[in-house]
Amino acid sequence: MARYTDASCRLCRREGQKLFLKGSRCYTDKCAIARRAYAPGQHGQARKKQSEYGLQLREKQKAKRFYGVLEGQFRSYYDEASRRKGITGENLLFILESRLDNIIYRLGLATSRAEARQLVTHEHFLVNGKKVNIPSYIVKAGDVITLTQKSRESSKFEQILDMTGGRVIPSWLEFDADNFTGKVVALPNREEVDAPIEEHLIVELYSK
Ligand code: SF4
Repeated sequence: MARYTDASCRLCRREGQKLFLKGSRCYTDKCAIARRAYAPGQHGQARKKQSEYGLQLREKQKAKRFYGVLEGQFRSYYDEASRRKGITGENLLFILESRLDNIIYRLGLATSRAEARQLVTHEHFLVNGKKVNIPSYIVKAGDVITLTQKSRESSKFEQILDMTGGRVIPSWLEFDADNFTGKVVALPNREEVDAPIEEHLIVELYSK
């Protein structure tokens, strides 16, 4: 499975904001954005005026990094979003939000999307009672996500839930912590997607 291997904090610093790529560390004063809120590298602190293209490109890069998706897959999500009815940029976000790794993260069953990807790959979850080990699996409204019986017996998930306990579960998801079970009540609308992304810039970029 292809994935980003760059140091996570560099990605946040490049985008100039927290992308929450490292789990609990992101909520502490060890966060690199809190310490050095400028781009990495020799010219990171230089002020640059960004062109329109530069802004659009950065927004696309930010979205890819936020969701942990590589260029080829991101582009195919965009193509799918533009084929769907409705607003292409919003459709793109809805597809990204529907990935199983994102759902696991949103439910608080992982401290970061990267951890969620690894946990899915290691077969810790069932979707509607069937084992799914594909992080990019797209869930639908009504789908039920549960931890396997074996994984419930491990203390790992107790620890994860302790760390993510304060996280607000989005209104379009339900979570029963006692039974390690989540449900996709409905797919979200734009107001319910908590992502620091101006999706119209991505549409403008790909529409050139
Ligand atoms: Fe980003 Fe988290 Fe690193 Fe802060 S600690 S820079 S939010 S990955």
